[in-house]
Amino acid sequence: MSDETSTPPAPFPTSLCHQCVHRRDVRTARSWFLRCVKLETKYAPQPVRACPMFEPVPPVSP
Ligand code: SF4
Repeated sequence: MSDETSTPPAPFPTSLCHQCVHRRDVRTARSWFLRCVKLETKYAPQPVRACPMFEPVPPVSP
């Protein structure tokens, strides 16, 4: 049974975009899209496996 108030799961969890500083999440109550600030088209075909513009999110310090 679905919960109307639950957050949708992350799309394409294996996508390289999840580890990239250029990703911006576009979220609503029912949807979650991975937008890219580097692409003119804004949305890469998912899942991204390799990308020449990829820059890793720096590790979070404790
Ligand atoms: S630069 Fe590449 S890896 Fe990073 S968010 Fe954009 S499409 Fe994804």
